[in-house]
Amino acid sequence: MAPDSAPQAASALRADAKPLIIKRVDAIPIAIPLKKPVIMAGVRLEVSYNLLVRAEAADGLVGWGEASVAPTMTGDVLPGMVAAVNEHLAPLVTGKDALKRAELAHICAHALHHNGGPKCAVDAAIADLAGRHLNVSLSDMYGGALRDSITAMYLLGNPKIEDDIAETHKKIKEGYTFFKLKVGIKPARDEAAAAVQIRKAVGPDVVLCADANMGMDFRSARIFVEDSRDADLLFLEQPLRDDDFDGMAELARISPIPLNGDESLGNVATIIQMARAGSIKGANLKTIKLGGVSATVHAMSVCAALGLNINLACKVAETSVGAATIIHLGCVAPNVNWGVSITNHYLVDDIVSNPVRIDNGSMARPAGAGNGVQVDEAQVARYRVHAA
Ligand SMILES: [Mg+2]
Repeated sequence: MAPDSAPQAASALRADAKPLIIKRVDAIPIAIPLKKPVIMAGVRLEVSYNLLVRAEAADGLVGWGEASVAPTMTGDVLPGMVAAVNEHLAPLVTGKDALKRAELAHICAHALHHNGGPKCAVDAAIADLAGRHLNVSLSDMYGGALRDSITAMYLLGNPKIEDDIAETHKKIKEGYTFFKLKVGIKPARDEAAAAVQIRKAVGPDVVLCADANMGMDFRSARIFVEDSRDADLLFLEQPLRDDDFDGMAELARISPIPLNGDESLGNVATIIQMARAGSIKGANLKTIKLGGVSATVHAMSVCAALGLNINLACKVAETSVGAATIIHLGCVAPNVNWGVSITNHYLVDDIVSNPVRIDNGSMARPAGAGNGVQVDEAQVARYRVHAA
C-alpha cells in the first residue's frame, strides 16, 4: 500500500473527534456532453445528466457526491432527484453531525422509497465531508484497501463490428485487458457472431464479457449464449427484463456462460434471492442502485458470502466524483473480479482539478482524504442546468 495514500488512516477515525455539523446540503443538476454517443439496448446517450450534492459543514469544509440519472435502471430523472434531495433528504441531515454518517444513511434510506440516486449522492457527499474532516480516504473509512490499483473495464458499443475490433486493438495498445461488449441491440445471432469475431481478432489473452441491458427476450438470449461459445465470454450481464426472475433462472440452467445481474439487483434481498435460485454467478453493484456508499459496501460483503463475483460500475457517464468513489470501493472489495468501469473519460469535460485517469488499463486509488478529487466550483457552475 502506498504510505502516502491515507497518511493518518490508523489514527484519524478517532473517538475524540469533534462533531462536524452539516450547515447546508444543495442539489446541483448538471449536464455534460459525451465525447461521442453511447448506444446500449433501448438508449442512445449524447449528454450525461447528473445530480451533484454539495454538503457544507459549519466550518466551511465541503464534501461532494454524485448520481447519474437512470430512467431505465433506478427510474431516477433529474427534476425528481433534485426534489428528493432538496425537499426530503437535505432537511433530514442539515444540522446533524456528519460523523454519524451511518445513522444519517439509515434515516435517509427509510425516509423515501426508491430514489437510490439521490440517496447515494447525499451519502457520498457526507462520507466525503467526514473523510476530509478526519483526513481519511473513503477506502480507509470503509474497511481499508486490499489493493492500490484496479484493472479498468472498457465498454465497446460501436454500430459496426469493424469499429469495435479497431477500437479494441487501439485500447490493447494503451494497456487495456478487459472489455465489455454492449449487446441486446441487434439480432442475437449477429451479436454472437460479432463476439466470436472479436475474440478471434484479439486472441485469447484479453477478457471479454457482454452486457445486454435487458435488451433480449428468452429466445434471443438462448441463441446468443449458445452461438457465442467460441467467444469465451467471462459472463453475460442482464440479458432479460429486470423482473424476469424465472427467465433468468431458466437461462442460467442452460447457458454455457455465467450470468451477471445488474438492473434486477436494486437491493441486497434480490441479490440473495437470485443467487439462491442459481440465476447469477455475479452482481453488478452500482452505488445509485443500492442507494449509497455504505449500502454498496454492505452488498459487497453479502456477495462475498454468497460466493458471487462482483462488477463495480459507474453509470454512463459520471464525473470524477462518482469515478473516485467507485475506485475506492473497488480497492476495498474482496471479490471484484468481474471488472470495474468508470465513465468520466466519456465526458468532454470534468468538474475536478485532478481528474481520475486510466493509465495502462489501470486505475490508481485516489490519494488524499475523502474521495480524493478536488471539485472546481467554477466548472460546476459552467455545467449547471435547471431541472424543473
Ligand atoms: Mg449493466
